Amino acid sequence: MSCRPRYCVRRRHIRRTMRRSRCACAAGTSISPRFPAWSRTNLSARPKTRQATETENHMTKGTYINIKRFEIHDGDGMRTTLFLKGCPLRCKWCHNPEGLSTKPELGFYAHKCTVCGRCAAACPTGAHRIVDGVHRFDRAKCIACGKCESVCFSDALIFYGKRATAAELLPKLLEDKAFYDHSGGGVTLSGGEPLLQADFCRELLTALHGAGVNTAVDTCLAVPEANLRKVIGLADSFLVDVKAIDSDLHRSLCGLPNERILQNLRLLDALHQRVEIRIPFVPGQNAGEMEKIADFLATLTCVVGVRVLPYHNLSGTKYESLDLRYPLAAVDTPIPTAAETEAARDVLAARGIRVLR
Ligand code: SF4
Ligand code: SF4
Repeated sequence: MSCRPRYCVRRRHIRRTMRRSRCACAAGTSISPRFPAWSRTNLSARPKTRQATETENHMTKGTYINIKRFEIHDGDGMRTTLFLKGCPLRCKWCHNPEGLSTKPELGFYAHKCTVCGRCAAACPTGAHRIVDGVHRFDRAKCIACGKCESVCFSDALIFYGKRATAAELLPKLLEDKAFYDHSGGGVTLSGGEPLLQADFCRELLTALHGAGVNTAVDTCLAVPEANLRKVIGLADSFLVDVKAIDSDLHRSLCGLPNERILQNLRLLDALHQRVEIRIPFVPGQNAGEMEKIADFLATLTCVVGVRVLPYHNLSGTKYESLDLRYPLAAVDTPIPTAAETEAARDVLAARGIRVLR
Protein backbone atom coordinates (compact mmCIF):
# COMPACT_ATOMS: atom_id res chain seq x y z
CA MET A 1 0.00 0.00 0.00
CA SER A 2 1.45 3.35 -1.00
CA CYS A 3 1.56 6.50 1.09
CA ARG A 4 -1.41 8.83 0.61
CA PRO A 5 -1.72 12.50 1.58
CA ARG A 6 -4.01 12.99 4.57
CA TYR A 7 -4.80 15.72 7.02
CA CYS A 8 -5.60 15.92 10.69
CA VAL A 9 -9.21 17.02 11.20
CA ARG A 10 -8.59 19.17 14.29
CA ARG A 11 -5.00 20.31 14.00
CA ARG A 12 -4.85 20.48 10.21
CA HIS A 13 -1.46 18.80 10.06
CA ILE A 14 -0.76 17.52 6.61
CA ARG A 15 0.86 14.11 6.73
CA ARG A 16 1.86 11.43 4.36
CA THR A 17 0.74 8.31 6.14
CA MET A 18 0.55 4.62 5.55
CA ARG A 19 -2.35 2.68 7.09
CA ARG A 20 -2.61 5.14 9.97
CA SER A 21 -5.98 6.51 11.00
CA ARG A 22 -4.62 8.78 13.72
CA CYS A 23 -2.56 11.90 13.32
CA ALA A 24 0.81 11.90 15.07
CA CYS A 25 0.10 15.26 16.73
CA ALA A 26 -0.54 15.58 20.46
CA ALA A 27 -4.30 15.75 19.94
CA GLY A 28 -4.10 12.45 18.11
CA THR A 29 -7.23 13.26 16.15
CA SER A 30 -8.47 11.17 13.28
CA ILE A 31 -7.30 11.98 9.79
CA SER A 32 -9.23 12.31 6.59
CA PRO A 33 -8.19 10.65 3.33
CA ARG A 34 -8.63 13.83 1.31
CA PHE A 35 -6.96 17.19 1.14
CA PRO A 36 -9.38 20.01 2.00
CA ALA A 37 -9.43 23.18 -0.09
CA TRP A 38 -7.45 25.15 2.51
CA SER A 39 -4.54 22.76 2.19
CA ARG A 40 -3.95 23.99 -1.35
CA THR A 41 -2.82 27.34 0.06
CA ASN A 42 0.57 28.07 1.54
CA LEU A 43 -0.06 27.26 5.20
CA SER A 44 3.27 28.54 6.39
CA ALA A 45 2.41 31.99 5.04
CA ARG A 46 -0.80 32.25 7.08
CA PRO A 47 -0.76 34.43 10.22
CA LYS A 48 -0.91 32.39 13.42
CA THR A 49 -2.96 34.77 15.52
CA ARG A 50 -5.22 33.42 18.25
CA GLN A 51 -8.22 33.94 16.01
CA ALA A 52 -6.55 32.11 13.13
CA THR A 53 -5.67 29.21 15.42
CA GLU A 54 -9.27 28.91 16.61
CA THR A 55 -10.53 29.08 13.05
CA GLU A 56 -8.18 26.30 12.02
CA ASN A 57 -9.50 24.16 14.84
CA HIS A 58 -13.14 24.65 13.72
CA MET A 59 -13.95 26.36 17.02
CA THR A 60 -16.17 29.20 15.82
CA LYS A 61 -19.72 28.57 16.99
CA GLY A 62 -22.56 29.09 14.58
CA THR A 63 -26.15 29.87 15.56
CA TYR A 64 -28.64 27.82 13.58
CA ILE A 65 -32.36 27.31 13.32
CA ASN A 66 -32.75 23.88 11.89
CA ILE A 67 -31.26 21.06 9.84
CA LYS A 68 -33.46 19.63 7.09
CA ARG A 69 -32.61 16.39 5.33
CA PHE A 70 -33.66 15.13 1.90
CA GLU A 71 -34.15 18.61 0.44
CA ILE A 72 -34.50 18.74 -3.35
CA HIS A 73 -34.99 22.49 -3.88
CA ASP A 74 -31.77 23.82 -2.34
CA GLY A 75 -29.29 23.03 -5.11
CA ASP A 76 -28.33 19.99 -7.14
CA GLY A 77 -29.46 16.50 -6.16
CA MET A 78 -30.58 15.45 -2.70
CA ARG A 79 -29.25 17.73 0.00
CA THR A 80 -29.13 18.47 3.69
CA THR A 81 -29.78 22.14 4.42
CA LEU A 82 -28.48 23.92 7.48
CA PHE A 83 -30.50 27.06 8.23
CA LEU A 84 -28.42 29.69 10.01
CA LYS A 85 -29.91 32.44 12.15
CA GLY A 86 -29.89 36.17 11.44
CA CYS A 87 -30.67 38.19 8.30
CA PRO A 88 -29.88 41.81 7.34
CA LEU A 89 -33.02 42.09 5.18
CA ARG A 90 -36.65 42.35 6.24
CA CYS A 91 -38.52 41.20 3.14
CA LYS A 92 -42.24 41.76 3.54
CA TRP A 93 -43.06 38.25 2.31
CA CYS A 94 -40.38 36.44 4.35
CA HIS A 95 -41.56 32.93 5.22
CA ASN A 96 -38.73 32.23 7.66
CA PRO A 97 -39.25 34.84 10.40
CA GLU A 98 -37.39 32.58 12.84
CA GLY A 99 -34.29 33.38 10.77
CA LEU A 100 -34.53 37.18 11.05
CA SER A 101 -33.04 37.88 14.48
CA THR A 102 -29.45 36.89 15.17
CA LYS A 103 -30.41 36.08 18.76
CA PRO A 104 -31.76 32.74 20.00
CA GLU A 105 -35.51 32.84 20.66
CA LEU A 106 -38.41 30.57 21.53
CA GLY A 107 -41.36 29.91 19.24
CA PHE A 108 -44.61 29.14 21.09
CA TYR A 109 -47.26 27.41 18.95
CA ALA A 110 -50.30 27.86 21.20
CA HIS A 111 -52.60 25.73 19.02
CA LYS A 112 -50.44 22.66 19.76
CA CYS A 113 -50.26 23.20 23.52
CA THR A 114 -52.02 20.59 25.69
CA VAL A 115 -51.54 22.73 28.83
CA CYS A 116 -49.63 19.95 30.55
CA GLY A 117 -47.53 22.45 32.53
CA ARG A 118 -44.17 20.71 32.10
CA CYS A 119 -42.61 23.85 30.60
CA ALA A 120 -43.71 25.94 33.59
CA ALA A 121 -41.94 23.48 35.91
CA ALA A 122 -38.76 23.50 33.80
CA CYS A 123 -38.44 27.23 33.16
CA PRO A 124 -35.93 28.94 35.50
CA THR A 125 -37.42 32.42 35.02
CA GLY A 126 -41.15 31.80 35.29
CA ALA A 127 -41.78 32.74 31.66
CA HIS A 128 -44.40 29.97 31.36
CA ARG A 129 -47.45 29.97 33.62
CA ILE A 130 -50.64 27.96 33.57
CA VAL A 131 -53.47 30.22 34.75
CA ASP A 132 -57.02 28.86 34.99
CA GLY A 133 -56.19 26.15 32.48
CA VAL A 134 -54.65 28.60 30.02
CA HIS A 135 -50.96 28.69 29.08
CA ARG A 136 -49.46 32.19 29.42
CA PHE A 137 -46.00 32.83 27.93
CA ASP A 138 -44.19 36.03 28.95
CA ARG A 139 -41.50 36.55 26.31
CA ALA A 140 -39.94 39.41 28.28
CA LYS A 141 -38.92 36.93 30.99
CA CYS A 142 -37.43 34.39 28.58
CA ILE A 143 -33.62 34.18 28.60
CA ALA A 144 -33.58 31.68 25.71
CA CYS A 145 -32.02 28.83 27.65
CA GLY A 146 -33.97 26.22 25.66
CA LYS A 147 -34.84 24.07 28.70
CA CYS A 148 -38.60 24.12 28.11
CA GLU A 149 -38.36 22.82 24.53
CA SER A 150 -36.91 19.52 25.68
CA VAL A 151 -39.83 18.79 28.05
CA CYS A 152 -42.63 19.70 25.64
CA PHE A 153 -43.86 16.55 23.92
CA SER A 154 -46.46 18.39 21.81
CA ASP A 155 -44.02 20.35 19.63
CA ALA A 156 -45.65 23.50 20.96
CA LEU A 157 -42.25 24.96 21.82
CA ILE A 158 -39.44 25.25 19.29
CA PHE A 159 -36.12 26.76 20.26
CA TYR A 160 -34.57 28.68 17.37
CA GLY A 161 -30.89 29.39 17.88
CA LYS A 162 -28.89 26.34 18.87
CA ARG A 163 -25.14 26.88 18.88
CA ALA A 164 -22.51 24.47 17.58
CA THR A 165 -19.08 24.37 15.99
CA ALA A 166 -18.43 22.98 12.52
CA ALA A 167 -16.79 19.91 14.06
CA GLU A 168 -19.90 19.27 16.18
CA LEU A 169 -22.28 19.57 13.21
CA LEU A 170 -20.20 17.63 10.72
CA PRO A 171 -21.29 14.08 11.75
CA LYS A 172 -24.96 15.04 11.41
CA LEU A 173 -24.39 16.65 8.01
CA LEU A 174 -22.53 13.59 6.74
CA GLU A 175 -25.28 11.12 7.72
CA ASP A 176 -26.73 11.18 4.20
CA LYS A 177 -23.47 11.21 2.29
CA ALA A 178 -24.45 8.05 0.41
CA PHE A 179 -27.53 9.89 -0.90
CA TYR A 180 -25.44 12.91 -1.89
CA ASP A 181 -23.03 10.70 -3.81
CA HIS A 182 -25.85 8.83 -5.53
CA SER A 183 -27.89 11.92 -6.50
CA GLY A 184 -25.15 14.49 -7.11
CA GLY A 185 -26.32 16.34 -4.01
CA GLY A 186 -24.57 17.69 -0.94
CA VAL A 187 -24.98 20.22 1.85
CA THR A 188 -26.47 23.72 1.52
CA LEU A 189 -25.97 26.54 4.00
CA SER A 190 -29.08 28.70 4.08
CA GLY A 191 -30.90 30.94 6.52
CA GLY A 192 -31.56 33.65 7.45
CA GLU A 193 -28.40 34.86 5.80
CA PRO A 194 -25.56 32.38 6.32
CA LEU A 195 -22.82 34.85 5.36
CA LEU A 196 -23.58 36.95 8.45
CA GLN A 197 -21.65 34.10 10.12
CA ALA A 198 -18.92 33.98 7.49
CA ASP A 199 -16.14 32.58 9.70
CA PHE A 200 -18.35 29.71 10.82
CA CYS A 201 -19.44 29.08 7.21
CA ARG A 202 -15.83 29.03 6.10
CA GLU A 203 -14.92 26.43 8.71
CA LEU A 204 -17.92 24.26 7.95
CA LEU A 205 -17.46 24.44 4.18
CA THR A 206 -13.79 23.57 4.62
CA ALA A 207 -14.69 20.52 6.68
CA LEU A 208 -17.37 19.45 4.20
CA HIS A 209 -14.97 19.78 1.28
CA GLY A 210 -12.45 17.79 3.26
CA ALA A 211 -15.06 15.03 3.51
CA GLY A 212 -15.68 15.16 -0.24
CA VAL A 213 -19.15 16.76 0.00
CA ASN A 214 -20.55 19.16 -2.59
CA THR A 215 -21.43 22.50 -0.99
CA ALA A 216 -23.82 25.35 -1.79
CA VAL A 217 -24.51 28.69 -0.09
CA ASP A 218 -28.01 30.16 -0.31
CA THR A 219 -27.50 33.90 0.18
CA CYS A 220 -29.18 37.28 -0.30
CA LEU A 221 -25.67 38.82 -0.76
CA ALA A 222 -26.59 41.80 1.46
CA VAL A 223 -23.31 41.33 3.33
CA PRO A 224 -19.88 43.01 3.22
CA GLU A 225 -17.71 41.85 0.33
CA ALA A 226 -15.17 40.55 2.86
CA ASN A 227 -17.75 38.08 4.19
CA LEU A 228 -18.47 36.80 0.71
CA ARG A 229 -14.78 36.41 -0.10
CA LYS A 230 -14.35 34.15 2.93
CA VAL A 231 -16.32 31.38 1.21
CA ILE A 232 -15.11 31.86 -2.37
CA GLY A 233 -13.45 28.62 -3.43
CA LEU A 234 -15.25 26.67 -0.70
CA ALA A 235 -18.80 26.85 -2.06
CA ASP A 236 -19.34 24.77 -5.19
CA SER A 237 -22.34 26.90 -6.06
CA PHE A 238 -24.23 29.94 -4.83
CA LEU A 239 -28.01 30.26 -4.71
CA VAL A 240 -28.65 34.00 -4.85
CA ASP A 241 -31.93 35.81 -4.24
CA VAL A 242 -32.69 38.77 -6.50
CA LYS A 243 -35.83 40.64 -5.49
CA ALA A 244 -35.73 43.95 -7.35
CA ILE A 245 -33.39 46.05 -9.48
CA ASP A 246 -34.83 49.45 -8.54
CA SER A 247 -32.92 50.26 -5.34
CA ASP A 248 -35.64 52.46 -3.81
CA LEU A 249 -38.20 49.75 -4.38
CA HIS A 250 -35.80 47.18 -2.92
CA ARG A 251 -35.42 49.32 0.19
CA SER A 252 -39.18 49.63 0.61
CA LEU A 253 -39.72 45.88 0.10
CA CYS A 254 -36.71 44.49 1.97
CA GLY A 255 -35.48 47.24 4.29
CA LEU A 256 -32.15 47.91 2.54
CA PRO A 257 -31.06 49.26 -0.86
CA ASN A 258 -29.60 46.73 -3.28
CA GLU A 259 -26.31 48.27 -4.49
CA ARG A 260 -24.22 45.97 -2.29
CA ILE A 261 -26.20 42.93 -3.46
CA LEU A 262 -25.70 43.68 -7.16
CA GLN A 263 -22.04 44.53 -6.57
CA ASN A 264 -21.48 41.18 -4.83
CA LEU A 265 -23.29 39.40 -7.64
CA ARG A 266 -20.97 41.05 -10.17
CA LEU A 267 -18.03 39.91 -8.03
CA LEU A 268 -19.25 36.30 -8.21
CA ASP A 269 -19.51 36.76 -11.96
CA ALA A 270 -15.98 38.16 -12.22
CA LEU A 271 -14.64 35.26 -10.14
CA HIS A 272 -16.40 32.70 -12.37
CA GLN A 273 -18.48 31.24 -9.57
CA ARG A 274 -21.45 28.96 -10.29
CA VAL A 275 -24.65 30.85 -9.47
CA GLU A 276 -28.31 29.91 -9.46
CA ILE A 277 -30.69 32.86 -9.13
CA ARG A 278 -33.93 32.74 -7.17
CA ILE A 279 -36.61 35.37 -7.73
CA PRO A 280 -39.51 35.53 -5.28
CA PHE A 281 -42.53 36.43 -7.41
CA VAL A 282 -44.91 38.48 -5.27
CA PRO A 283 -47.92 40.10 -6.99
CA GLY A 284 -48.36 43.72 -6.00
CA GLN A 285 -44.81 43.89 -4.59
CA ASN A 286 -42.01 43.00 -7.03
CA ALA A 287 -43.92 41.43 -9.92
CA GLY A 288 -43.29 44.56 -12.02
CA GLU A 289 -39.50 44.11 -11.73
CA MET A 290 -39.27 40.94 -13.78
CA GLU A 291 -38.15 42.62 -17.01
CA LYS A 292 -35.47 44.69 -15.25
CA ILE A 293 -34.22 41.62 -13.40
CA ALA A 294 -34.08 39.67 -16.67
CA ASP A 295 -32.14 42.49 -18.38
CA PHE A 296 -29.63 42.58 -15.52
CA LEU A 297 -29.16 38.80 -15.37
CA ALA A 298 -28.62 38.69 -19.13
CA THR A 299 -25.40 40.70 -18.57
CA LEU A 300 -23.91 37.98 -16.30
CA THR A 301 -22.07 34.86 -17.43
CA CYS A 302 -22.05 33.08 -14.05
CA VAL A 303 -25.78 32.29 -13.96
CA VAL A 304 -26.49 28.62 -14.65
CA GLY A 305 -30.24 29.00 -14.22
CA VAL A 306 -33.04 31.04 -12.67
CA ARG A 307 -35.87 29.80 -10.50
CA VAL A 308 -39.07 31.83 -10.09
CA LEU A 309 -40.57 31.21 -6.65
CA PRO A 310 -44.29 32.07 -6.53
CA TYR A 311 -45.46 33.78 -3.33
CA HIS A 312 -47.30 31.79 -0.68
CA ASN A 313 -48.68 32.87 2.68
CA LEU A 314 -48.16 29.74 4.76
CA SER A 315 -45.91 31.32 7.37
CA GLY A 316 -48.56 33.11 9.47
CA THR A 317 -48.33 30.76 12.47
CA LYS A 318 -44.54 31.18 12.61
CA TYR A 319 -44.96 34.94 13.02
CA GLU A 320 -47.56 34.41 15.76
CA SER A 321 -45.30 31.93 17.55
CA LEU A 322 -42.61 34.62 17.79
CA ASP A 323 -45.01 37.48 18.64
CA LEU A 324 -44.13 39.13 15.34
CA ARG A 325 -46.48 40.85 12.92
CA TYR A 326 -46.63 39.43 9.39
CA PRO A 327 -45.90 42.50 7.21
CA LEU A 328 -48.33 41.46 4.46
CA ALA A 329 -51.13 40.48 6.87
CA ALA A 330 -53.14 43.60 6.10
CA VAL A 331 -52.17 43.75 2.42
CA ASP A 332 -54.22 41.98 -0.20
CA THR A 333 -51.48 39.86 -1.80
CA PRO A 334 -52.95 37.22 -4.10
CA ILE A 335 -51.22 33.91 -4.65
CA PRO A 336 -49.99 34.05 -8.27
CA THR A 337 -51.79 31.75 -10.64
CA ALA A 338 -49.86 29.16 -12.63
CA ALA A 339 -50.38 31.28 -15.76
CA GLU A 340 -48.97 34.42 -14.07
CA THR A 341 -45.92 32.52 -12.83
CA GLU A 342 -45.41 31.06 -16.29
CA ALA A 343 -45.61 34.54 -17.83
CA ALA A 344 -42.87 35.70 -15.44
CA ARG A 345 -40.71 32.76 -16.51
CA ASP A 346 -41.34 33.63 -20.16
CA VAL A 347 -39.87 37.11 -19.58
CA LEU A 348 -36.61 35.47 -18.47
CA ALA A 349 -36.61 32.85 -21.20
CA ALA A 350 -37.08 35.56 -23.83
CA ARG A 351 -33.64 36.96 -22.79
CA GLY A 352 -32.05 33.55 -23.37
CA ILE A 353 -31.91 32.83 -19.61
CA ARG A 354 -32.28 29.19 -18.58
CA VAL A 355 -35.37 28.85 -16.40
CA LEU A 356 -35.33 26.11 -13.75
CA ARG A 357 -38.50 24.50 -12.38
S1 SF4 B 1 -44.86 21.66 27.79
FE1 SF4 B 1 -45.71 22.11 25.75
S2 SF4 B 1 -47.77 21.22 25.77
FE2 SF4 B 1 -47.09 21.37 27.93
S3 SF4 B 1 -47.90 23.35 28.62
FE3 SF4 B 1 -45.81 23.70 27.89
S4 SF4 B 1 -46.08 24.32 25.73
FE4 SF4 B 1 -47.99 23.37 26.38
S1 SF4 C 1 -36.24 29.11 26.78
FE1 SF4 C 1 -35.64 28.95 28.95
S2 SF4 C 1 -36.16 30.96 29.83
FE2 SF4 C 1 -37.23 30.81 27.86
S3 SF4 C 1 -39.24 30.05 28.37
FE3 SF4 C 1 -37.99 28.25 27.87
S4 SF4 C 1 -37.14 27.54 29.82
FE4 SF4 C 1 -37.94 29.62 30.16
